Amino acid sequence: MTRYGLLIDYEFCTGCHTCEMACKQENDFGVGKTGIKVNEIGPMQTGPDKWALDYVPVPTDLCDLCSKRVSEGKKPSCVMHCQAGVMKYAPVNELVKFMELKAKTVIFAPR
Ligand code: SF4
Ligand code: SF4
Repeated sequence: MTRYGLLIDYEFCTGCHTCEMACKQENDFGVGKTGIKVNEIGPMQTGPDKWALDYVPVPTDLCDLCSKRVSEGKKPSCVMHCQAGVMKYAPVNELVKFMELKAKTVIFAPR
């Protein structure tokens, strides 16, 4: 069976948290529950005049890759609402091809 996942091109993630809100609303998650969490890494000095600050959204154990939406032919809610267009939902082998060409990408593929 084809395994699907989420790719996040976090080089261009703005840390806007819209994916968290979209997930919460879609799944009616209450306080303290989320299907995805945006993590802030840095600011961190990485060279004499260089600083890094990354936002990396990470799906949680509550993420089911929006199975209901996907079965209706829709995109996962987080993917659809990300204004920066940095999230992709596809078979993992296709996501890997994209990842090979692009730095600062992560793939999540819950079972
Ligand atoms: S795929 Fe669906 S359940 Fe998973 S993080 Fe995105 S919105 Fe939440
Ligand atoms: S909605 Fe997109 S840009 Fe905003 S935090 Fe989530 S992944 Fe990053």
